[in-house]
Amino acid sequence: MEIIHTDCLVIGAGLAGSAYALQIADRGFSVELLSLAGPLAANSDWAQGGIIYDTAPDPAALTRDIVEASDGTANPAAVAQLVREGPAAVKELLLDGLQVGFDRDAAGRLEFTREGGHSEKRIIFAKDATGHVILEAVAGRVDAATRIKRRAGWVAIDLLTLSHSSTDLADRYEPLTCFGAYVLDTATGKTAAIVAKKTVLATGGLGQIFLHSTNQPGSVGHGVAMAYRVGARLIDLEYVQFHPTVFARKNAPSFLVTEALRGEGGVLVNARGEPFMEALHPRGSLAPRDVVARAIKRELAASGEPCVFLDLSAMKPEFIRERFPNVRERCLAYGVDITREAIPVVPAAHFACGGVHTDLRGRTNIRHLNAIGETACTGLHGANRLASTSLLECLTGAKFTAQADAAELAGEKFRLPEPRLWESPSREADPVLVRQDMRQVQMTMWNYAGVIRSPKRLTRARRILLELREEIQSFYRGCRLTRELIELRNGIQTALLVVHAAALNPTSRGSHYVVEEE
Ligand SMILES: Cc1cc2nc3c(=O)[nH]c(=O)nc-3n(C[C@H](O)[C@H](O)[C@H](O)COP(=O)(O)OP(=O)(O)OC[C@H]3O[C@@H](n4cnc5c(N)ncnc54)[C@H](O)[C@@H]3O)c2cc1C
Repeated sequence: MEIIHTDCLVIGAGLAGSAYALQIADRGFSVELLSLAGPLAANSDWAQGGIIYDTAPDPAALTRDIVEASDGTANPAAVAQLVREGPAAVKELLLDGLQVGFDRDAAGRLEFTREGGHSEKRIIFAKDATGHVILEAVAGRVDAATRIKRRAGWVAIDLLTLSHSSTDLADRYEPLTCFGAYVLDTATGKTAAIVAKKTVLATGGLGQIFLHSTNQPGSVGHGVAMAYRVGARLIDLEYVQFHPTVFARKNAPSFLVTEALRGEGGVLVNARGEPFMEALHPRGSLAPRDVVARAIKRELAASGEPCVFLDLSAMKPEFIRERFPNVRERCLAYGVDITREAIPVVPAAHFACGGVHTDLRGRTNIRHLNAIGETACTGLHGANRLASTSLLECLTGAKFTAQADAAELAGEKFRLPEPRLWESPSREADPVLVRQDMRQVQMTMWNYAGVIRSPKRLTRARRILLELREEIQSFYRGCRLTRELIELRNGIQTALLVVHAAALNPTSRGSHYVVEEE
């Protein structure tokens, strides 16, 4: 087994992992940067709406909006850090450092938009492909950085800790300490150990454990599952945000229909063309996401229709073409011309508000293991996330974690023992079984632990998933590792953790909605 040494191992090359890698490398430390696939295969690349930048004239208004969206549950310290430090992080890295091409008016001033739950226009954007434009610029800089070794298609399997993976038995008595990870190089099928002074989980979200999701393939909560196996504290996992508007047409893939369309005047209507949000919330179609997602679910349950519609008739066709070219193109490819007709939409799993618990410098309860971006949970989102806060959270998390790590790397001594050998069986896993098991996880989560939950449904989900986990574990132990198998093992673990958290919390708040019986 190959053993690679580095200062920092970053698992995940979305915005959080890449921004951290750049900032720690700039301070003189070496980085190994892993991703499941190519540099742009991350949820960060798919962010459409934008990123909060302008908190003036009233930063207190942003604080209020975040806390209100969270149903009063957000961690005040995390909110204060984001509101205070976020705009500077955007300016430093994205505007001054990378000169990302956000939309500007004829005079060269940044344009601002508003999304659901925002009381002011404070979000900057690049048409409807903000995440892509940002990640492309960040990835370009990563590729030019000599201290960063990018390893696309290298999948982290398990974290190395002194208690679990050291060849020195006495290390079992050390405090919980991480020193890297076992990884699979999917191109060669070989496993390696990357031994690192600092390990950063930046593996993104977990939407793909649900049948309908806006997330990229592979977003099954890898970081959450790996962290759980070595004793990390997890928090708020029941709070999975469902995006209310995902394209819904038979035989077409689901993809997100940006909230910015509602920010610019789009209105949700039922199959009879009647608006239904205005009667339910003062902000109508721009109400917080959880409110909208549940309203749609109920509307569908009452009507028996497969979807509701986003009516864009308040916008001029030229404006739609200019402002939302990507959404227009994708919808057109599946037979919907959004300059002339309403978009069919349903809700889908979108964002994990909970995750691996960290302080405001990315530190978990395990020494030298950090988590940032969507994998982490500082409590910023509480029970429900305000739109366009997550890209910003990636930047602030990366910045403060890199700062804290650099100070420790310069001063502290690190114990980096020889890791135990990883032995992988040579028998091939049957891909049909792997796919079917994953499908079962997704169906179970969607039907029993989705937008509307009940104790009965959660109990059933737990029973099904526990049985499935037994099977998957023995399967996993007996077969040669592949990305799909690692994903299945982590997916079932994350699903069980979400169900467990949901079952322990009988109180409906934010995105977690429980009824006695539905
Ligand atoms: C469709 C969509 C639209 C969105 N729109 C917005 C928006 O407008 N504004 C906003 O603020 N937020 C938006 N979000 C949310 C936001 O994009 C994400 O929360 C954020 O990008 C997460 O970034 P991240 O770096 O934490 O994770 P990601 O960008 O998801 O990156 C995760 C990385 O981890 C890697 N990885 C995972 N597991 C492993 C493993 N085991 N080994 C190695 N690598 C691994 C992946 O390959 C990937 O590189 C949107 C999300 C989606 C899905």
